[in-house]
Formats: sequence, structure tokens, C-alpha cells
Amino acid sequence: MHEMSLMQGILDSVENAACEAGAIAVSEVRLSIGQMTEIVPDAMDFAFEALSPGTLCEGAQLKVTMIAIRSKCNVCDHEFEHDRYHWGCPKCDSLATELLAGREMYIESIEVEMSDEEPQSGQTDGRDAIVVNAVTEPLSCAGERA
Ligand SMILES: [Zn+2]
Repeated sequence: MHEMSLMQGILDSVENAACEAGAIAVSEVRLSIGQMTEIVPDAMDFAFEALSPGTLCEGAQLKVTMIAIRSKCNVCDHEFEHDRYHWGCPKCDSLATELLAGREMYIESIEVEMSDEEPQSGQTDGRDAIVVNAVTEPLSCAGERA
């Protein structure tokens, strides 16, 4: 299943980012997925549930935002949103269009729980949002890798 290997890469990236930030757990993972990718959000949920136990992402919320497909007409410069099957420019009917968005998939942000090392500050709820870039090659991370 395609989504399984994708999710494995995402979990690796998220764990590395969380680990580097000194987090003890991940509470939320936000993904953006282009509608052009043919990735099925339900299958991503399933893959997340299947693969996250035992990782820092165990118990985290997975939130998927779908990115609309957008193209630009090379003839009249019109920009428009469309579905996977309709490429033509709605203004001039040209099929000479260029895809601007919809084929990407990236980790938008993750929310992590930090360890409680400064209890005297008292005010923090221990949650912090950090932003990571697109799925990248896993970096080495001391300790946590199986
Ligand atoms: Zn056009």
C-alpha cells in the first residue's frame, strides 16, 4: 500500500524533528496533501494508526488538509482551480495549461509535548508548535531509533 510507505517516511521525519526539538511526545501532526496526488486521506489515517504505536507519534492527532488543484492557462494567463479530470481553461478552452498546485504533499506542522524540566516556570502547558519542512531524508537521532 502506497500510503503505508509514505506514512513511514512522514513518521520518520516527524520523529526526527520532535527529537531534535527535545520533545517527549508528538500531540498533533498536520499534513497537506494535494488532490492531484491520489493519496486517500482515509488510507493515511489507517497507516498512521497502524504505524504510530511505539513511536513518539503514538496517540497523536493526524490532521489532513487537502490542497486544491490549481492551474494557469498559458494562452490567456487565467488562473483557476479544477479537479483531476478537467484541465482545460474555463475562459478560453485552451488545454495548454500549467499545474501550479495540487501535486504536493508535505508536513505542515507538528505539535509536540516538551519534557517538564522547568516546573518552576509553571505557566507553560508543555505544548509547542514547531514547523518542519517537506518530508526529508531521515536524520540520525540518538537513542530513539529502533
Ligand atoms: Zn485560457
